[in-house]
Amino acid sequence: MADSPSPAAPGDDAERLQALQRYGILDTPMEPAYDELADIAGHVCEAPVALISFVDHDRQWFKASLGLPARETPLNQSVCRYAIQQSGVFTVPDLALDARFAHFDIVTQENPLRFYAGAPLITPDGYALGTLCVLDHRPRVLAQKVLDLLSSLACQVVRLLELKRANDLQGQMLADLEAARQQMAVLAHTDVLTGLANRRSFTERLRQELALLQRSSEPACLLMMDIDHFKRVNDMHGHHVGDQALQLLATLCRDVFRAADVVSRWGGEEFLALLPATRVDQAQVVAQRVHAALAAHALPGIEPPLVLAVSMGLTLFDPLRPLDVTLRVLDSALYTAKREGRSRTVVV
Ligand code: GH3
Ligand code: MG
Ligand code: MG
Repeated sequence: MADSPSPAAPGDDAERLQALQRYGILDTPMEPAYDELADIAGHVCEAPVALISFVDHDRQWFKASLGLPARETPLNQSVCRYAIQQSGVFTVPDLALDARFAHFDIVTQENPLRFYAGAPLITPDGYALGTLCVLDHRPRVLAQKVLDLLSSLACQVVRLLELKRANDLQGQMLADLEAARQQMAVLAHTDVLTGLANRRSFTERLRQELALLQRSSEPACLLMMDIDHFKRVNDMHGHHVGDQALQLLATLCRDVFRAADVVSRWGGEEFLALLPATRVDQAQVVAQRVHAALAAHALPGIEPPLVLAVSMGLTLFDPLRPLDVTLRVLDSALYTAKREGRSRTVVV
């Protein structure tokens, strides 16, 4: 029997347990690659039982267990916990003659196990996670050459673990990359302050709608909104209140417009909405709802109450008119609304 220091008390090997967690191997299903290495170990040592065992904080758990029905045992029934305390192969020629193990279930059971040899599974950074071990029903001594082979097989188990870890990391990196890509895609289409479509993505949407309209008999409308006297809001209450005002308008738009409508932040305090499959009279009702919603929702937390108003230009989205012409027409309608006293909608 090899000499060994006494095993660390539970909790003493927190770093080792952390290293074990990093491999994410505990409680994974059995896998042929591990079974095969255990099988080779059993054959090389001519032993009926071969295990790949990981020493967890309260149990030893078997990734492979050939010749033994259990998949884990409590730590106080573990010979492997002694084996991981040293660098070489830990052998116990006769478990029944060793006071540390003689009372173990595997030794007192019917058809007891008597012999143990376990090579520690040592990670590249020096943590012994468990063992590749063999057991036999009769007391034995293994030749040094066989012990060396068992050690080499243990190294192969660690290589499998390293490969799994590299795969897991790569998988995680790919998932992170995909999440970042999706986030970027959303950001590229979204105005950060309001969460509405930004001008670039909305222009794309307008072009698509224009193409659809050319083949459709359904009308669509465009509504351009501009907050009245917005500069004053900034000047009197500060830029952050101005930002809150923009967010409030965006929130109210989400309530007022229908799911099929698309609202964008077209510019500073200008919002442009597309209302597909909508006639002008129906769009006027929506515009009226925007005016009413703003009148009913003062900016929260500001005294005296700060009520926003918008001026709007409304037009039919004419498929025969180039987009830039339509936008100029809308602009002029908006300008008329401003000139005529603001807080109103002008239809052209
Ligand atoms: P009008 O009724 O004629 O539209 O007057 P206005 O004051 O709303 O228009 P003006 O074009 O004079 O001012 C618009 C202001 O909007 C100026 C600009 O500083 C402000 N603004 C633009 N973008 C933002 C923003 O993201 N946050 C804040 N807080 N202010 C913004
Ligand atoms: Mg403006
Ligand atoms: Mg304005």
